Amino acid sequence: MPADLSAAFTRVTSDLGDNPNLIATLEVVDTLNVMVEGAHPILRCPSGCARCCHQQVYISEEEWAILLPALHRGSTADERRRIVRRARRLLDRKRGPFRRALRARNLEELSRLMQNVDRRRVQRCVLLTSDNRCAGYEGRPMICRAFGRVAHTVNLPMLCKIFFDRLRDAGESHESLQLADFAPVRQAYLQGGAEDLRWSLLPVFVVLHADDDGDLVREPRPLPRDGSWPTMTREDMEHF
Ligand code: SF4
Repeated sequence: MPADLSAAFTRVTSDLGDNPNLIATLEVVDTLNVMVEGAHPILRCPSGCARCCHQQVYISEEEWAILLPALHRGSTADERRRIVRRARRLLDRKRGPFRRALRARNLEELSRLMQNVDRRRVQRCVLLTSDNRCAGYEGRPMICRAFGRVAHTVNLPMLCKIFFDRLRDAGESHESLQLADFAPVRQAYLQGGAEDLRWSLLPVFVVLHADDDGDLVREPRPLPRDGSWPTMTREDMEHF
């Protein structure tokens, strides 16, 4: 049985609320990752696994400002053009699987409409490469770092099916794990940044940052506030 980590988790997360900012929050999540994995080898991801990247993530303008340069450092122009093409196919307003979801005006509606997208098995993140790498791994969003290492409550761990299966095969339960409390991380994540910060689906950011050559521009741009794309405010995210 590993040592009790709860006090160490609290030490790592306790300063997050003082001056909430995304870089500090991401660093804390990375530290929690190391602690949880060290205590529970059963939670180490299988090599080459990208199961948790078969979903569509919501990110903020701040996260995109970190992810965009990481995409330029971590992928070739051809890879970025493929990412843009995939995002454009998903978001095609006439034929794309996201076409209904693009009319959503709040997070609740968007999430409900996205369930139909999921049912059609359009789950692969646009940044996931054919060899199961995240094309912007170094700058990946907060939720991608936290998943599998944190819990909303003891009975609501954010674990993937692979981990649940491993626990079952070992005759263990998720209740035996020491996972970090997600609440202070989420709170700091939602509190930091500009007052008018907006969130949207990751492919929306990709499409809005394509240049004339189909590559991604280098400078992040704000999401449009005119309703042309579904965007969420901090309040939407806080109540979700
Ligand atoms: S951004 Fe990267 S880590 Fe996150 S879901 Fe997409 S491919 Fe996976």
